[in-house]
Amino acid sequence: MLLNAKIFLFLCPLVVFCRIVALQSSPVDAYYHANLSQEEQALKTVFFRAVGMSELDWQKALEQAYVAYDEDEISIKKQSEKFPTPSFEIKQSIAKLMREQCLIPESVQVLGNKSGLVLRAFKSIILVADDFFKKYNATQDEIEAVLLHEIIHISKLDEVELLALKMIYDNLPWYTKLRVAPLLQRWKLFREKRADILAGLTSPARAYALASFYIKVLNSPYYLPSDPTHPPLHKRIEYMKALGDSLQKGSIDQPSRLAKGIDFIKGALGYIQDYAVGP
Ligand SMILES: [Zn+2]
Repeated sequence: MLLNAKIFLFLCPLVVFCRIVALQSSPVDAYYHANLSQEEQALKTVFFRAVGMSELDWQKALEQAYVAYDEDEISIKKQSEKFPTPSFEIKQSIAKLMREQCLIPESVQVLGNKSGLVLRAFKSIILVADDFFKKYNATQDEIEAVLLHEIIHISKLDEVELLALKMIYDNLPWYTKLRVAPLLQRWKLFREKRADILAGLTSPARAYALASFYIKVLNSPYYLPSDPTHPPLHKRIEYMKALGDSLQKGSIDQPSRLAKGIDFIKGALGYIQDYAVGP
């Protein structure tokens, strides 16, 4: 209940309006949302079963993690003091995007990050190094799409959820850990994909902008192919382009291109192979 109350306070009064808009969503929007929640539910079901916990246990773990995360953010804030404050333009863009998502801009602190480092979102902090975007010569559309991806991590409480999962994991016997570790990995990949898709769903231009930014990263000398916490970039480019095409057409009837995408989006129960090779 505590967590739910806090989440409610986090949302702005426009939430009711947003709910109404969501109910009037397009078929493409409905399709992707349904697939994402189906995959989330499947991942959670498998995880709960593996560790022998109930939905109520999970809610308690989430509440603990929500409180515990404040400690983590204190040290994150301290570390960020060493780095230059993000530009006014970046802060303005984040505030605009948050309002667009019916979130209170003041509920998030935008702090500096080490030069050139990738953005990171926590519970109520986004770390940005301005030169990250300059490094890739990002357009305004691309910057906004990437920032929105981070905002979605915050609105979904992705880092809090991950902390809750890790806290549960740390208390498991070693033989259960062996079974659960791949599930944690799948969760990390899922939440990245969800942040991509939900950012892209806001407009075809944004979906394409995220794809074009990832193309820039993929073709840059800074690209590191071995990041296990994110889906491979070529996959992210593929599903973001497919999303942009679907949004532009207003339908998801692209059998050949989308066939791979659908398998990837579903990803969960019965689709474990997708994850074995990396989504
Ligand atoms: Zn992310």
